[in-house]
Amino acid sequence: MTEVEKKLIKKVILQIKDSVTSDIRIMEICGTHTHQIARFGIRKLLTSKIHFVSGPGCPVCVTERGYIDALITLLEQNNVTVATFGDLLRVQGTCGSLEEQKSLGKKVLTVYSPEDVLSLAQDYNDKSIVFAAVGFETTAPLYAALIKTASMLKIKNLFFLTSLKRMEPAIRFVLGNAKANIDGILCPGHVAAITGIKPFLPITTEYHIPAVICGFDEMDLVTSINVLCKQIAGETPVQLINTYKRCVSDTGNEAALSLMNEVFKISEVSWRGIGKIKDSAMILNGNYEAFDACKKFGIEVKSNPHPFPHECECGKVMIGEKTPDMCKNFGCQCTPEHPLGPCMTSSEGACSAYYKYGGSEFGSKNYASTR
Ligand code: SF4
Repeated sequence: MTEVEKKLIKKVILQIKDSVTSDIRIMEICGTHTHQIARFGIRKLLTSKIHFVSGPGCPVCVTERGYIDALITLLEQNNVTVATFGDLLRVQGTCGSLEEQKSLGKKVLTVYSPEDVLSLAQDYNDKSIVFAAVGFETTAPLYAALIKTASMLKIKNLFFLTSLKRMEPAIRFVLGNAKANIDGILCPGHVAAITGIKPFLPITTEYHIPAVICGFDEMDLVTSINVLCKQIAGETPVQLINTYKRCVSDTGNEAALSLMNEVFKISEVSWRGIGKIKDSAMILNGNYEAFDACKKFGIEVKSNPHPFPHECECGKVMIGEKTPDMCKNFGCQCTPEHPLGPCMTSSEGACSAYYKYGGSEFGSKNYASTR
């Protein structure tokens, strides 16, 4: 960072301190924002009156235990290999994780890009490859492109167990939960780069909560927090502001949206620790259902009524009711080496961010219940 940038950040931080005269709660929906705020030590730089809470924006954290169970069930089937990005490997289902299955000799392969999955299917055309496709609107276009390519190439041994989620219904769910008690929202810039600003407009127009679409470096974050604090203080009108214009246009990435619309349709899905949210899933539509692992292998992803073992509080962490350090397991029974819940397991999870970089420097008071 240049000296000029450092001076600018200091100036913005002083403006934030001037605006904030009473305790406020800001939600960062996106797991990457949670990590960047912690990594840059932004809480320490600001006033202790600003309390950050996390939202449901870590795709691995919100993936049902039943989804991991379904992948493990598939491994029981003859000739099936499960391919996944690394983050999902350690996440616990009801009876263990994919990593444990791998150590037992089951066919679980880690991939690093969607193209790897295509190569796998072509290289092992005598096997069925099932790809665990988890994510939000950010990654859905990549999966859509992959599925379309597989269709054009007439690949018959590649299938997808999808758990692709939409951000807008989740935001509505969180804002409908009075216990979250949120004063302002940092909206995920990479989702908005695909969707445009539309999914985030209801935050201000219907719920009248200040909102800003935010990028991921220090300047993006402090600038966006300043915009939020001015709205919360009543210095500027409540409205959705896009401070990430270098990547986010009003209408989003139209080619990516068109790809998604071609391959997926909207449905309902259960979010781990949250429950079913209407219209929050993207599933394969009729034209591409030959690639649907559930249909091919006759399985279903069951919603688990007990999404967390060991009194894990990930459910409350992911909807802003608690911060990770309010969980009694945090840092003792639950660490990144021995994670109990997905928020510690996932590299994007709020608990892992708190553990790695230091958590709520301002104590673990439950502001949600006391305000
Ligand atoms: S610290 Fe561990 S047990 Fe507690 S909420 Fe986080 S992941 Fe769950």
